[in-house]
Amino acid sequence: MQQQQASIISTLKILKKLYPQKPDMDLGNPEDSLLATIMSARTTDAQVLKMFPDFRKKFPNWKKLASADLIDIAKSMNTIGLFRNKAKSIKSLAQQILKDYDGKVPDTMEDLVKLSGVGRKTASCVLSTCFNKPAIAVDTHVFRISKRLGWAKGKNPIIVEKELAKLVPLKWWSHINHTFVPFGRDICKPGKPQCYRCPINKYCNYSNKTQKA
Ligand code: SF4
Repeated sequence: MQQQQASIISTLKILKKLYPQKPDMDLGNPEDSLLATIMSARTTDAQVLKMFPDFRKKFPNWKKLASADLIDIAKSMNTIGLFRNKAKSIKSLAQQILKDYDGKVPDTMEDLVKLSGVGRKTASCVLSTCFNKPAIAVDTHVFRISKRLGWAKGKNPIIVEKELAKLVPLKWWSHINHTFVPFGRDICKPGKPQCYRCPINKYCNYSNKTQKA
């Protein structure tokens, strides 16, 4: 276990150095980051970042969103996937935040997952990026790469999150998602990973490593 933890820390140190940038959905405040993270489900971050400024101009606060016509909200986000469902969630979320949290985004997992449209992954992203709290957001990249590395075996994100929480020291939790997302887009891609140019190859247990481009 100690040896595995040492190799986990070495792995995360290498990735942190390689991908020091903040996450795409870290927009500098909890309101924007929460909305953008909800919008980013099954959509590229680039698509969300493109429509987001106009969306916020139209709905600059929770009050505007809570009282807005649902069709209007949906129209303002119709360039992203699942926009009708997301519009519904966002309107309810605004009403909940005003009613139950005095207009402020809550800062605990327990409260965040009570909000409309917010699951553990979104809550973890917000906790780590906006409130600087350790959290492991298991998205598609974290799920895939953790298994390839041999850090987790679970069949769903909740089990993988629990496995990672047991294995990875708390101070590194947030770095898992922040580094695995760009690493997963860049090198350890879905489909064929590019193991021949992987900086953490020697720490990885994947059995089908690729040898050349
Ligand atoms: S060696 Fe291959 S499978 Fe393992 S982390 Fe690197 S790219 Fe991914």
